[in-house]
Amino acid sequence: MRVRCLDSGRTYDVRDRATIGRAANVDITIDDPSLLAHHATLVASESQPGAWHLVSAGDDDEVNGRPAPGGITRLGVGAFSVRLRLGSVALECEHSTELRRTAATGTESNSRCPRCARPIAAGEELLRCECGAVAHAACAEGRCYRCGAREEADANAE
Ligand SMILES: [Zn+2]
Ligand SMILES: [Zn+2]
Repeated sequence: MRVRCLDSGRTYDVRDRATIGRAANVDITIDDPSLLAHHATLVASESQPGAWHLVSAGDDDEVNGRPAPGGITRLGVGAFSVRLRLGSVALECEHSTELRRTAATGTESNSRCPRCARPIAAGEELLRCECGAVAHAACAEGRCYRCGAREEADANAE
């Protein structure tokens, strides 16, 4: 996920977790008096691949203009973009989803393709999305049926 601080224009690449606050020992240090020393954490979900959460200790934060007082707020899954306001600091979070083409292994052999409803056979080419969705590559048409991520968009992503 890419995080951009709208005031400073600085961007940060977050792999699966980043702490945000005023303290020097957090991942994204923003020296703003409205932030707590350890204000919030951006976390990639372990149980749902491709999903992200904001865990905040602040009590007047916002996600896309909606109040997100202290606690866990779901940001999105797959390809998404959200506006955060932590204290008076505005941040933009963009997550692009990686789609990969792979050959089916034994693991998928007892599941069905959600597009054509046929069972997935070993060796068939699959399109696998970071959000956890899997479909036949031929059925998916370069697009994740679940989160809407596109194969082309990913190729252009930095
Ligand atoms: Zn299919
Ligand atoms: Zn997806």
